[in-house]
Parts: sequence; C-alpha cells; structure tokens
Amino acid sequence: AEDLQFRLRTGEVVDESTYPLVPHMRKEEDRLRTFSSWPSTAPVTPRDLAQAGLYYLGESDGVQCFCCQGMLGGWEEGDTAWGEHTKHFPNCFFILGHDVGNIPLLGGA
Ligand SMILES: [Zn+2]
Repeated sequence: AEDLQFRLRTGEVVDESTYPLVPHMRKEEDRLRTFSSWPSTAPVTPRDLAQAGLYYLGESDGVQCFCCQGMLGGWEEGDTAWGEHTKHFPNCFFILGHDVGNIPLLGGA
C-alpha cells in the first residue's frame, strides 16, 4: 500500500495532542460499517482495516485513519492493515498504543 498523500498541506504540522482527528470514527463498529462497498478483490479485509483504525473512503481502495487522518490505498498482496499503517504513519498515536478513545467491537474475537 502507499500513502495517498491527500492530507491537507497545512496538516504537515504534527499535532502533539492524542485526541483523534476524526472522533466520530472512534468506534470500530462504525469504521467496519463504512466498508459495505469495499472491493472483494482487495487483499486486506474490512475487519483487519477497521481494527487497525481505518475506515473506507468509498472510492477505489482508499482508507483513512480515525486518529492520524493518514490515508492509504493501493493495497497489494502481502500487505497488512496494521503493517502499512505503521510503515507510513509511524507517529500515529493509535499505532503507538496511546489511549486515543478507540472503541473496539464488543464481543469481537
Ligand atoms: Zn493512524
């Protein structure tokens, strides 16, 4: 996968706050729901993406992180949601394990 570079140009300033940039996507359940039209040919699953803090943008295979607002796309065989998120956005507070208000799926395994 690759960084889609859709971030606001002004967004290059690193926000030191741990507050998620897209707070309405804090719930894994809500993120999972965005994947209703996710391409079935994509090598990563909606569940893995949602668990890695990502939700679907509704076009192609572009996803975005609820915490760092980083965007990823161009998923390739062998990519993992968590791995690509970490690779491209290593300073994401969700990736770093901070409590950013993520709400995991209840009863999920
Ligand atoms: Zn992130």
